[in-house]
Amino acid sequence: KKEYTSPFNPTQPKFSEVQQTVPTKPTFPTPPSIIYDQKRNKKYIRGRVLGEGGFARCYEVTENLAGNQTASYAAKVIPKSSLRSEKQKAKLYGEIHIHRKMDHHHVVKWYEVFEDTDFVYMTLELCEGKTFVEMLKKRKRLTEPEVRYFMFQLLDAVRYMHENKVIHRDLKLGNIFLTKDLKVKIGDFGLAATIKKDGERKRTICGTPNYIAPEVLFDTRNGHSYEVDIWSLGVIMYTLLVGKPPFQTKDVKAIYKKIKENNYEYPPHIQLSDDAISLIKSLLHTRPECRPMAVNIMRHKFFRSYNIITSIPMSALYCEPQFT
Ligand code: ADP
Repeated sequence: KKEYTSPFNPTQPKFSEVQQTVPTKPTFPTPPSIIYDQKRNKKYIRGRVLGEGGFARCYEVTENLAGNQTASYAAKVIPKSSLRSEKQKAKLYGEIHIHRKMDHHHVVKWYEVFEDTDFVYMTLELCEGKTFVEMLKKRKRLTEPEVRYFMFQLLDAVRYMHENKVIHRDLKLGNIFLTKDLKVKIGDFGLAATIKKDGERKRTICGTPNYIAPEVLFDTRNGHSYEVDIWSLGVIMYTLLVGKPPFQTKDVKAIYKKIKENNYEYPPHIQLSDDAISLIKSLLHTRPECRPMAVNIMRHKFFRSYNIITSIPMSALYCEPQFT
């Protein structure tokens, strides 16, 4: 194996080396090694697997540009054989329809969608730092300056989405991607929805158990709206600081009971500032109308009373950065 010397930590391997071994489902059909976008007459060379989700596999792909230049993207590949039901098709069309309209420096950039006989391809901005899931696995939990840095970027993206009448509805560690320079990018708009008329309420029960807001589960009559994303941000912030989600338990029913009762606590060995605790409390308010809007959260003391660092070294993916 090649030796790599990181300027931050000489014992750390290179990104591409860490990401080589992604477990993949053997049943997933392999797309061609050269992927053609016939309509635009573009050619992509298929590289390594970046990850696999419910119905898609992501590859790193490279395009040769003029003058010996190349560009790399993440290509989300969906086998047409997995799009048999109307529900699956609707999910994909919804994702494409919403994600392609997004244009923000903290949202995974959307490039193109095209197809060949067997697959649908979506080219996206390549996020080489993987997601918060992998980062937290290595780090266990993050420091408050780091969480302040990441949360501020997330809030900027959520403010943008909500101003453009989009609810993400599946904000969680696995849908928050990191670039090589450790900027966050929100991705996976598979469950996102648009609000077409002011005051419209959504009724589909969706989300991921640990991150789901109480009104989605228990107030199906009134429905839900933008505030579900604020709740999920509360779950994300707690998880980044504590190392496990606030309502985590063995079975899903017990998680829902805890969410309903707003029953979460802080392990005694975790020392957090009052500002962090008060911010999490306001995000995890049971009543959606009491949760602050993203733009107002950015003015909370947790952000206002401190300097927000402007960058984080790459080594933070593996070990606590030393800020001076
Ligand atoms: P699904 O919608 O099927 O859940 P995802 O969008 O979650 O698929 O993608 C599956 C996996 O591919 C992710 O968990 C991640 O590891 C990887 N991935 C997705 N998008 C990107 C990206 N833009 N850059 C790098 N890796 C990505």
